Amino acid sequence: MNYSYRIKANPKGRNILIVRGLVQLDNVSDIKAEDFDAIYIEDYGQSHSELSFQLQSMSSIHGMKSHLKPRFLAATLKPHVHQLKPLVDGFATTPDDEKMSERIEEIYDKLAYIDLFDISEVRTNNYVYFLKLCKHAISRGLYTFTTSLEAAYAQGHTALFLAKQDSLTTNMRSEFVRFNQTLRELGYAERKKFEERIHVCPHCKGSHLFYMEACPKCDSSLLKEEPVLHHFRCANISPESSYAYDGELRCPKCHQMLRHIGVDYDRPANVYTCQECSHTFLHTRMKVYCTSCQKTSRPSDLLAQDIYSYEFTTEGLQALSSNDALLAVSKDVWAGYSRFDSFLSQIRLFSYSHEKNESVLINRFKLEGNVNREGIMHFVDDLQRKYHYHNLSYNSHYIFLAAKVQHSRMETLKKQMEEEYLELQRIVELRNLGTKLVDQDFLYHTEGEKIDNFIKRISKSQ
Ligand SMILES: [Zn+2]
Ligand SMILES: [Zn+2]
Ligand SMILES: [Zn+2]
Repeated sequence: MNYSYRIKANPKGRNILIVRGLVQLDNVSDIKAEDFDAIYIEDYGQSHSELSFQLQSMSSIHGMKSHLKPRFLAATLKPHVHQLKPLVDGFATTPDDEKMSERIEEIYDKLAYIDLFDISEVRTNNYVYFLKLCKHAISRGLYTFTTSLEAAYAQGHTALFLAKQDSLTTNMRSEFVRFNQTLRELGYAERKKFEERIHVCPHCKGSHLFYMEACPKCDSSLLKEEPVLHHFRCANISPESSYAYDGELRCPKCHQMLRHIGVDYDRPANVYTCQECSHTFLHTRMKVYCTSCQKTSRPSDLLAQDIYSYEFTTEGLQALSSNDALLAVSKDVWAGYSRFDSFLSQIRLFSYSHEKNESVLINRFKLEGNVNREGIMHFVDDLQRKYHYHNLSYNSHYIFLAAKVQHSRMETLKKQMEEEYLELQRIVELRNLGTKLVDQDFLYHTEGEKIDNFIKRISKSQ
C-alpha cells in the first residue's frame, strides 16, 4: 500500500484520517481541518520513537487541525505504546471498527459542550497550554487528575499526563504545580486525597534523583568499604587490609599474628576509605544528583512536596468548557515579571477575554548606557518588588510596565505611571550605574485596532 494518508468515512459517517507514515499535519495543505473527524494510525512497523513523533505531529493538544480530535492506533501497536498510552483514545484492528466508532461519538458528545480556543492565536502562554490539557481531559471524561507515581514524568506524578510527549521544560514543570494550585484557588478543582510525600530537587523541583554515598571530605563516591579489626592485646584499630600478611592476619602495630576471632580480635564496624583522597571514615555523606538539572544537593536541602489527587468541580467543568477559565486565569497571572514572549501572549489573551471599557496601558522606556545583562536583571528585580501590581517585562534594552485599566481611568493611570517613571529616573541617577532612562512612551490598544498590529507596535523598537 503506497500512501502516507487517506480519508475514509466510518459506519457512523465520521471521516477518519488513516495515516501510514509521518504526516506533519499542519504543514500538509491538502488536508483541511474540516476534512476529517478522527485519526487512525496504522502499523507499518514503526518504532516507538517514530510513533511518538507521529503523535506529536498530529497532536490533539497543539495540532491546529487535529486539536481535541480522537486518535486511535492499530491494535498491533499496543505492545509498543508504553508511556504514550494516555495520549491515544484507543486501539482498533480496522479504522471502521465498531467500538472505535462508538468511542468517537462519545468524545464528540462531550466536545459539543466545549468551546474551543482559537489556538493559532494563543499558543505561547503556558497557562493556555494547561487549559488546553484540561479541555482535552474533560472531552475524554477524565474529571480527576491523579498524581500517581510514574517513571516517565519528572515530577514523579502524571499531573494531567502528557508530560513526556510534550517534553515539558524544567520551568514548565514547576508552573504545572502552580497551575494545579491556581485551579484550586479558583474553585475549579478540589483536592481529593493525599497520595504521597515526595522529595524533589531544590533547584528545578524534579524528582528523578540519584542518591549516592560520598566521602565527607572531598565528596567523591569512589569509596572502598571494609571491616575494621580491633586487636584486643594492643588495642589497635585499623582497616582489615592493613592486617594482611602473606594470606594471614598480622597486627600492623605489634606484629602479632591474629588467630581466633572473639579471642584475639573482633570486627566492630565497617569503615570507608576514599580512593580519591585516602580519607578513612565511619559514616558516608549522602549526595543527591538531579538528572534533570544536573545539580548536586544534600538530602537535607531537598524540598518535601505533597502529592494530591485533584478533581474538577462542577463550576470548574463549566468554566473550563467555556472560555471563562481563560479570563480568570489570565487575571490571576496578570502581575509580576514575565519573559517577553509570554508578556506579549498575556496581552493578546487579555484582548480576547477582557471586559468592555477595559484596556491595557504599557509604559515603555529604554535603558541607555553601559549596562550588562546582570545589571539589567538586578534592576528588573528591583522594579518587580517596587511595582508588584504591574506586569513587567524586558526586551532588548526596553523595560515594559503594563497595567489593566478602565477607559475612564486611563488618564489617571498615565499620570501615575509618569510619576513612577520620574522617580525611577532619579533612582537610576542616584545609583550612578552608568546608565539612564530615556525614550519613555505609552502604548495602549486603541479601539478597533487589530491585536496583531498592537503586538507589533509593542515589540518594535523605536
Ligand atoms: Zn575523599
Ligand atoms: Zn596488636
Ligand atoms: Zn534539579
